[in-house]
Amino acid sequence: MPSFTVSSSGQLDKTVLHKYLSLEQHSAVQCMYIWIDGTGEAMRAKTKTVMQEPKSPKELPIWNFDGSSTYQAEGSNSDVYLYPVAIYQDPFRAGNNKLVLCETYKYNKKPTDTNRRHTSVVVMEKAKDAHPWFGIEQEYTLLDIDSHPLGWPKNGFPGPQGPYYCGVGADKVNGRDVVEAHYRACMHAGINISGTNAEVMPAQWEFQVGPCEGISMGDELWAARFLLHRTSEDFGVVASLDPKPMEGDWNGAGAHCNYSTQAMREPGGIGAIEVAIEKLSHHHVRHIKAYDPKEGKDNERRLTGAHETSSIHDFSAGVANRGCSIRIPRNVVEDGCGYLEDRRPSSNCDPYAVTEVIVRTTVLED
Ligand code: ADP
Ligand code: MN
Ligand code: MN
Ligand code: MN
Ligand code: MN
Repeated sequence: MPSFTVSSSGQLDKTVLHKYLSLEQHSAVQCMYIWIDGTGEAMRAKTKTVMQEPKSPKELPIWNFDGSSTYQAEGSNSDVYLYPVAIYQDPFRAGNNKLVLCETYKYNKKPTDTNRRHTSVVVMEKAKDAHPWFGIEQEYTLLDIDSHPLGWPKNGFPGPQGPYYCGVGADKVNGRDVVEAHYRACMHAGINISGTNAEVMPAQWEFQVGPCEGISMGDELWAARFLLHRTSEDFGVVASLDPKPMEGDWNGAGAHCNYSTQAMREPGGIGAIEVAIEKLSHHHVRHIKAYDPKEGKDNERRLTGAHETSSIHDFSAGVANRGCSIRIPRNVVEDGCGYLEDRRPSSNCDPYAVTEVIVRTTVLED
């Protein structure tokens, strides 16, 4: 059931807001601390004023919040700590104001259950000489505030898939304003956003972040997701990361993870790519468990073997084949080096978990 029937934030007049946002704020800086909540999917945010512009997350104080209201703690012992780990320019408040991505820690200074960065950062440090690069293609679906895909007939369906992917025209794509606003917001923030496109299902879109080295892949993708939800809020629509928002003959949503090490990028690197694929083939189940927040349950709905996916039960690899677990892009074979694409991660995956397991399997071999 939808929780709202009209979007109150989307309907407020943004020109009135703009009058206030252009007021002088003197030397005070607004730092919006953002974090992943106890669902492992949704994000939360709250703001702190600091008196000097921070240049690195280390300059910012550790903060806390009421974890009993975010599925992260009991009411009787509710303080959860926010440890700043990355800062970005805030495209909403602009100026020197910041977004501050945080890890969450419990009262006993142990990471919370949905803090997947904590182990990922250790793995990335161990593997740093391999210089692992990632590029994630984040697919998502824009929903109206009533949870119905944006622009779909309220009592029916749009015409079958075919004309919508990379489409242009009011009868082909829905919600482009949100996509454009988000794209520029990411650039303002300093996120390495590499592109966008309309997807196969109407109201479904994609943006790509990367290449990013090591832990910054997870950091930048989570920050870009925050910007997506926040931009959508301004337009009164909802961005869903559900991997199969519509049952039936409609594409699901993934988060393909493109991956390379320095050895793969160098001349003749195709050999290193083949070795990595061989290693990945021995750990299919462990990867499926890490590729969605429900250890494979979400991907069961998406990885059916149809709609440009491979079956969740089998590992496969192929050149230019979008029905495989792993695709080697055609141009990579032609160049003899480059990267591979792991097509299995679901749209709502945790990129910290995805990149960690890829590096564990292919670099650390543990
Ligand atoms: P697709 O053809 O599967 O739709 P996209 O163009 O959407 O691919 O996304 C490709 C992603 O791969 C981009 O995010 C890009 O930054 C990333 N990428 C490119 N080269 C590399 C590399 N050597 N290592 C890791 N990622 C890379
Ligand atoms: Mn209070
Ligand atoms: Mn893509
Ligand atoms: Mn896509
Ligand atoms: Mn892809």
